[in-house]
Amino acid sequence: MVRFFRNLWYPMTLHAPTLQSLDLKGKTALVRVDFNVPRDKSGNITDDTRIRAAIPTLEALLRAGARPVCLTHLGRPDGEVHEDARVDAIGVRLGELMGRTILKLDESTGPAVRAAIHAAPQDQIVLLENVRFHPGETKGDPALARAFADLGDVFVNDAFGASHRAHASVSGIAAYLPSAAGLLLEAEVQAFDRVLNQPARPFVAILGGAKVSDKLSVIENLLDKVDALLVGGGMAYTFLAAQGHSVGKSLVELDRLDTCKQALAKAAAKGVQLMLPSDHVVADRFAADAHAEVCGIDIPADRMALDIGPKTQARYAEAIEAAHTVVWNGPMGVFEMEAFRAGTAAVGHALGRAQGYTVVGGGDSVAAIALLGLESAVDHISTGGGASLELLEGKVLPGIAALGQVH
Ligand code: ADP
Ligand code: MG
Repeated sequence: MVRFFRNLWYPMTLHAPTLQSLDLKGKTALVRVDFNVPRDKSGNITDDTRIRAAIPTLEALLRAGARPVCLTHLGRPDGEVHEDARVDAIGVRLGELMGRTILKLDESTGPAVRAAIHAAPQDQIVLLENVRFHPGETKGDPALARAFADLGDVFVNDAFGASHRAHASVSGIAAYLPSAAGLLLEAEVQAFDRVLNQPARPFVAILGGAKVSDKLSVIENLLDKVDALLVGGGMAYTFLAAQGHSVGKSLVELDRLDTCKQALAKAAAKGVQLMLPSDHVVADRFAADAHAEVCGIDIPADRMALDIGPKTQARYAEAIEAAHTVVWNGPMGVFEMEAFRAGTAAVGHALGRAQGYTVVGGGDSVAAIALLGLESAVDHISTGGGASLELLEGKVLPGIAALGQVH
């Protein structure tokens, strides 16, 4: 009975209106993109993945006859104009990648901006200045959202990586204009809807990363959905400590022992297989050149576990390969150091061999996939670390929920 009511309350699907729902011909489309690219000290773009990721949506808008006007944030200028946070270099790179000239404007609201947009040819891509130069952006100020909305006819959110933020340019504009998800956001929504709301079973989740405390809500939410939960990374040692194992100098959050016990009890009550490491790669210190060795489930007092051991790797790989749906967040060890990368690599390769649908989310997890060259082995690699984590927590993302309110 309780279950029945819970199912009524849970959103059954994750949904967003698509570009097809918008009337685009001859219109000006405000597109919230995530061009918050990493840069070096001189401001040079060191990775343009996020710029590339928005191009399909911009091309689709041009094909449909819309004039795309891009809004993005860059860094944290905290509501003030910071010269080094201007987005000019992004406009140049976008132009190079698309083989077009981009019209970059030095502001992002106001009559002059509006006039410049509307004086431009219909097939001109426009890039507005960093939206976080406005103090109202991160506050979600409706007046700022309205000022953005005044610049165009329709709104497209393609910034999945910012969609967990209730910021003016992310979730505010959709109150004033017809709106939809761009292609990138649509792919993210579909992937997470498939794993969270309609998973083919068995459904296996792999959770790792540094701390249990970062992932408590994810554990809680996924225990209601999965058939097996494979735990690795630093967070595994708080679980093992909660079971009474010695964990040596490994990362442990003593204030989370009870939470881990509750999660173990919940898993047992629900018949979810919660798998923990049974062997480890340990070292005497946290360093790339530390001496690494394998030990059994109990960790010697003077050692810290920095990766899952070979037996655990084999058990986890077997469970992953047999799964029909797999979602992975958080590395299995300190993959940044080669000596402690094997566990993360084993899980990554198992995902590649799995017959089922596979999704990876999380900033470091995606970095690990890239480092291991496993991009093509996974069905969906999420472009948003924080946003994907919030979806796994079962949260509704403001930038998605806001879409489609105006027709
Ligand atoms: P994601 O960004 O994918 O969500 P997290 O940020 O939660 O992942 O965790 C990634 C970090 O966890 C990595 O920097 C990795 O080095 C660290 N980590 C993994 N295993 C351990 C461990 N056994 N001890 C300490 N840190 C670990
Ligand atoms: Mg991280």
